[in-house]
Amino acid sequence: MSLRFYNSLTNKVEEFIPNNEKEVKMYVCGPTVYNYIHIGNARPVVFYDLVKRYLEFLGYKVTYASNITDVDDKIINKAIEENKTEKEIASFYENAYFDAVNKLGSKRPDLVPHATDYINEMQTFIQSLEEKGYAYNVDGNVYFRISKIDDYGCLSNQAKEELTEGARVDVDLAKENPLDFTLWKKTDAGIKWDSPFGLGRPGWHTECVVMNHKLFGDSIDIHGGGMDLKFPHHENEIAQSEALYHNHLAKYWLHVGRVDLKGVKMSKSLGNVIYVKDLNTAKDYMVLRMLLLFSPYRSIINYSEELQGQYSKLYDKWQRALKQTKYFLEANDIKTLNVNEEIIERFKEYMDNDFNVQNVLMLMEELVKEINQNYRSKDYEKLALNVNTFVKLLDVLGIDFSLQELTPEMKEIYHLWDVARANKDFANADKYRVMLVEKGIL
Ligand SMILES: [Zn+2]
Repeated sequence: MSLRFYNSLTNKVEEFIPNNEKEVKMYVCGPTVYNYIHIGNARPVVFYDLVKRYLEFLGYKVTYASNITDVDDKIINKAIEENKTEKEIASFYENAYFDAVNKLGSKRPDLVPHATDYINEMQTFIQSLEEKGYAYNVDGNVYFRISKIDDYGCLSNQAKEELTEGARVDVDLAKENPLDFTLWKKTDAGIKWDSPFGLGRPGWHTECVVMNHKLFGDSIDIHGGGMDLKFPHHENEIAQSEALYHNHLAKYWLHVGRVDLKGVKMSKSLGNVIYVKDLNTAKDYMVLRMLLLFSPYRSIINYSEELQGQYSKLYDKWQRALKQTKYFLEANDIKTLNVNEEIIERFKEYMDNDFNVQNVLMLMEELVKEINQNYRSKDYEKLALNVNTFVKLLDVLGIDFSLQELTPEMKEIYHLWDVARANKDFANADKYRVMLVEKGIL
């Protein structure tokens, strides 16, 4: 078996064959930093981290890039509103973003390009489009000419005519076609750059293509993002890439579903938004990670307190099993470097099947049950094997129960507790138990 997943570009589950045998180049559209992220924004943060971890587990060398959009109308408006510079707004929310990424247990991407560091490259890119007839300038606004792209709509699987109909609502008379999108925006308010087209700023769709190309070259292996970015953002990225590089930018396009709140799409204007920063404890963050992780990645998650509650129970159950057994094994110096091959094989089989995380969840539940049984039946050899396997899989999933290494002093107390219990010395057993609870061991 080898890894297969759903390629949004072809609408098929396909075998994953990167351009460069064991190396993977992955780009995921990052946040526009003008506000805190909500639990829906957290989904790609968790999912693509899982993809990276799993590819590494399979032995690939992965370079994962995710950008920061630090220039945008929303940032400019917020800066005006709060009487700050765009840079102050952007760096404040970028810090808040990475704080959330970290608490959610996701690693920082290997490369974090900022749009404002690539303004010159974007201008050169837009000029090339203009020279080749793919762009036109109307009074300082530069638009992309989509009539030149035959298969425009290939990603969202819609005909150009259909998309044109949809775009007519927001008609801009300066454009040749309602679907033509802005490459360079003439601006009056807020931060702006001088350019051959006049004062202004680059369009969002151009940022990602230029940074992608600059960091990785002509074509990458995986381009990811939220499902809502398919159209127009990713469609427009592809159009620009076709124009200049004659490819679809990435071999595989991978999209993750959104998160609804009690059946309703989250929206700031409706006020039904849960911000990640409002989670209270480290456990809350990890519970959210598990909830996002174990939901089929292409489906909408219908978030509710009950759902969060279910995963909270699951967290407690797994943590209890791990704590009890890992510390017992450590205190008694029982260890193994081996893993339960059968479990590992099944894990791979499920993940290779378009990231079937629901089956992975059942497998983990089975493993926890077995660990508890091994402990009760005092089958310590098997226990060590299964606990080691569990720890390994938790690491691939990025689930962290923040367990510690036992110090010699803790080991000693653990033994004294064991001996007191065996001797039915309840007073001492209780005393040592309290000490272990205080240290977070029990
Ligand atoms: Zn993007």
